[in-house]
Parts: sequence; C-alpha cells; structure tokens
Amino acid sequence: MTDSERAKPSNFIRQQIDKDLAAGKNQGKVATRFPPEPNGYLHIGHAKSIVLNFGVAEDYHGTCNLRFDDTNPHKENVEFVQSIQKDVRWLGYDWADRLYFASDYFEQLYGYAVQLIEMGKAYVCDLTAEQIREYRGTLKTPGKNSPHRDRSVEENKDLFRRMREGEFKDGEKVLRARIDMASPNINMRDPTLYRIRHGVVHHQTGAEWCIYPMYDFTHCISDAIEGITHSLCTLEFEDHRPLYDWFLDELQTPAHPQQIEFSRLTLEHTVTSKRKLTQLVDEGFVEGWDDPRMPTIAGLRRAGYTPESVREFCHRIGVTRSDNIVEMAVLEDCIRTDLNENAQRRMAVLHPLKVVITTYDSDKSEVLSVANHPQKEELGKRDIPFSNEIYIDRSDFEEVPPKKYKRLIPDGEVRLRGSYVIRCDEIIKDGHGNVIELRCSHDPETLGKNPEGRKVKGVIHWVDAKSAVEAEVRLYDRLFSHPTPDNSKDGKEFTDHINPDSLRTLTQCYVESALGQAKPGERFQFEREGYFCLDPMHQAGNKPVYNRTVTLRDTWAKIEKD
Ligand code: ATP
Ligand code: MG
Repeated sequence: MTDSERAKPSNFIRQQIDKDLAAGKNQGKVATRFPPEPNGYLHIGHAKSIVLNFGVAEDYHGTCNLRFDDTNPHKENVEFVQSIQKDVRWLGYDWADRLYFASDYFEQLYGYAVQLIEMGKAYVCDLTAEQIREYRGTLKTPGKNSPHRDRSVEENKDLFRRMREGEFKDGEKVLRARIDMASPNINMRDPTLYRIRHGVVHHQTGAEWCIYPMYDFTHCISDAIEGITHSLCTLEFEDHRPLYDWFLDELQTPAHPQQIEFSRLTLEHTVTSKRKLTQLVDEGFVEGWDDPRMPTIAGLRRAGYTPESVREFCHRIGVTRSDNIVEMAVLEDCIRTDLNENAQRRMAVLHPLKVVITTYDSDKSEVLSVANHPQKEELGKRDIPFSNEIYIDRSDFEEVPPKKYKRLIPDGEVRLRGSYVIRCDEIIKDGHGNVIELRCSHDPETLGKNPEGRKVKGVIHWVDAKSAVEAEVRLYDRLFSHPTPDNSKDGKEFTDHINPDSLRTLTQCYVESALGQAKPGERFQFEREGYFCLDPMHQAGNKPVYNRTVTLRDTWAKIEKD
C-alpha cells in the first residue's frame, strides 16, 4: 500500500488537532517540528516521531521544521548533523527552507534569561553541582533554598554578564530559575538555566559562547520562537510541561505551543538509547552506525529496507500513550511484504557445490529466459546462461536423505529452476570423504516442462559456473538474542545479550550473471534464500557484497515458541 492509498491515520493527537482547528485556535494553522539532538544517528524510534510530525504537517497542510537541539556541544558533531538530514530526506520528508538550530537562538535565549533576572525570576547560584543536587530534596522531601537565591537583580545581571564574558570557571556558577524549592514536581525546584563550558568548540557557533542554555529552557522557547502550534514529544517530558508553561507564561513569548506527549517506541531484540547505540559503535560490537544490524535508519537502509516499509511500520504501530513494545517481526513483516511485491527474483548459490552435466556438450552454452517476478509479468524476463558446469547449494544434495527429502539424491532427479531436470549419477569426494562435486546427466526433453507421465517434485536454484559472478554474502540476524536486552532483569549488561550469530559472512558465493548489472542499494529476492540488497557502501576486495535484508519467513517465531 502506498501512503496516498492509505486512509489518514487517526490517533489521539490528530483528534486533538481536529478539536483545536474546530475551535479556531492558532488561526487554523498546524506547525510541528522534529527536534533531534545531533549526538548520534537517527533510529527507528526517531522514525516514529518523524512520521508523526511530518505526517501531521502534510495531512493538515501545515509545516514541519527540522530543528537541531544543539545545546550539548561536547557530544554533538557535524557528522551527526549531516546524517540526520540525509536520513529524514531518505524517509521521504522535506523541511523546505525550515532548517533550524537551537543555537540560532542563543542570543535571544540570553535575552530571555536576562528578562527573567529582571523580573526577579532567575538568579546566579554559586553552589556546586553536588550541592545543588543535595539541596534539591527528593520526591518525599522538599528542597532547600540556595543561599544565593535572594541576590539583587543588579548583582544577578552583573554576574550573568560576567559568566558570559568568561570570567568564571566551569562549574563555578550557574544561572537558575527562581520558582519553588518545595514544589512536588522536582523539575520546578529552581532548575538550572545556564552553565559554563569553556574550551568546547560548538559545531555551529564555534567559540562564541562559553555559557550554554540547558535543554529545558531552550527547547520550549525554540518552539515558541518558531511558532510551533503542537509540540509533540515522548512521555518522559510530561513532567517537564509545567516548567515549559512557566517559562512561556512568565516570558510572554510570541506563541505558546501546546505540548502533547506520546509513548516511545521500544523494539524487541534491539536497543534505541543513543548512549547504548554509541557504545555498540565505540566498543566495536558493530561495524559502525550504519551496520545493517543497527536499528538506525542508516543501518536499515544498508540492510535493504525501503523508506516505504519503514513508514508502513510507523503507521502499523500507531501513536498512543501506552507502552509501545513492538516485536521485531512487525518491522520484518513490513519489508518482507514490500519486497515480495516489488523485488525482482534472482538466483544465488550461497554454499556452492559444483555439478558437471556430463551429457551436455562442454563447448556449448545456451541462454534461458526466466521471469523476474512470478506474479508480475510487467517486470519482464532476464537471460540466464546454462552450460555443462553449474553450482547448486550444498544443502540441496543429500547422500543419505532424510524422509520426505525432495531434492537431489544419488540416482535421483531434481528440476533446476527455469531449466532442465538432472539426475545424479556419480559423487566425487575428497580424501576426507567430503562431497566435492557431482556428475549428473540432463534430460533435453525437460526444458521448461515435465514430459508425459514423469513428475519431478523437487525444484532447486542454481547458477551457471562459467558466467556466475563471485560475491560475498552477509547473513545478518537480530543483534540481540534477548527480546529486551537493556531490561533483561538478569543482572547482565545489555552487551552480554548480543546474538553470537548476528552476522555470518559467506565469502565464496556465486550469483547469476544478471546481477553483474545490479545497482548499489538494489534489492532482490534470492530464490529460496531470502531478500538481499547490494551493499551501497562496501565491497569485499573486488567482490560485490550482498546483505541479507530479511529471511523469506519469520524463522524466529518458531525459535521463540520453543
Ligand atoms: P536518547 O534518549 O536515546 O538520547 P532522545 O529522545 O534524547 O533519545 P532526540 O534526538 O532528542 O533523542 O530525539 C528527537 C525526537 O525523537 C524527540 O522528540 C524524541 O521524543 C523522539 N524520539 C526519540 N526516541 C524515540 C522513540 N524511541 N520513540 C519515539 N520517539 C522518539
Ligand atoms: Mg533528547
């Protein structure tokens, strides 16, 4: 299903927007934003937020800004800024000329902070971070006022200016809001607004500032400056909403966005905390942020996911306020359905066993024409060469076959997909008894049809040895064996749950010659093996690399039942 065919989603956020529009709020406008912090690559959880924010803007003929929440320069960098833009675009969304950085507003934010000081609503505090924590109190006990809480407006203004001018060391002073140290909501107990950070070079503002605004202060004011009507965020910010409302009301900002919270996506068999994803990259558990096992957008892209399949996933999981723990099978089903419909079929032999067709002239070869898709004639046909040497998969031959085995056995017959029926006449073994080659004969009467009265049940895939392309195939699987690796309740680290078989690399595979023209990132069904994507980034020496996107069926459903 394409997005335009799909009925517009309905959820509690869209219902609220409908109500607001009906009540004539915001002059009938809808303005949202997607506000990532550039301290990592985007992941599948972000995709949920992107599809929600950009999707709402599209459906209500509104706007969605891309705004970097860049108040934490030592964890942020330009690589992340760029990858985030690339990934949002890849998902199919466009922010037009509305690319913003919270750091664009640093001067304005400074002005708002001074305004709070002038209103007696903010003060410079000399307590250490440790002391501030002690003074804050707990959920059960109220906090204590800072001894610096009653500094005069003039003194506060002077100290804050000198903080900006670099007179004080990191941690020596902070600017705090002056709200209520006894508030039952800890976020309201005189939160820090500004801290001193010397020696960091900010990716946007360079060395211009040595004081940086805190996220809570910055985020709501940035939304207000941009005229966001609906500020959609995840549930952990619900308790921050009173603080945001306090800032916006006290400062009389040009707009007062309405914050609506929804639940975070948790996907089984993976993690989506950026801190943990960073750890996987930094400690070498994966190849990088775009490793196909990562739940990042870049990883999904390299694995072979389509933007449509990721959007479809976001539609299927919906938006609610209740726990959103989703099985990996849901995501996999989205890409499987997409590729079953849209990916062309090819043949690839992953564990090659050589077969010599003794009855086929060794100087001869012919070209067979095979459909690219079993149901979609419009996808046409391709040429597949056939000659006296082919490869089949090792698992398609058994010397001592188990019951009901329908593939090749000694003196048995099997059909080569799109080609002839062959019979196994002779087995060649090495000195250790391993089968290294089969000698077979073919029946020239069987090309594309079964002769009268003879039914050959088994059909196997194969490639022509002389024209095949050598390839490396990477069989990716779930990165974690445990469904909730960062909440396993067994006292183990999440990295202890890494699936040891999450990557199997097959270095000597053969793919049919038509794949010589495959484009980087192109996706195929390798018949009987799964869906694969030509790695857009990597080659193994001069061999192309194919990443497995997903298996043909949900093989984990069975494992998890057992
Ligand atoms: P982390 O806590 O891992 O650092 P974050 O939420 O701080 O993630 P941001 O870059 O601040 O990461 O996120 C940008 C937006 O994406 C936010 O509005 C956030 O609510 C949303 N988002 C992040 N993770 C998820 C998730 N798992 N499900 C839904 N939305 C998410
Ligand atoms: Mg964040």
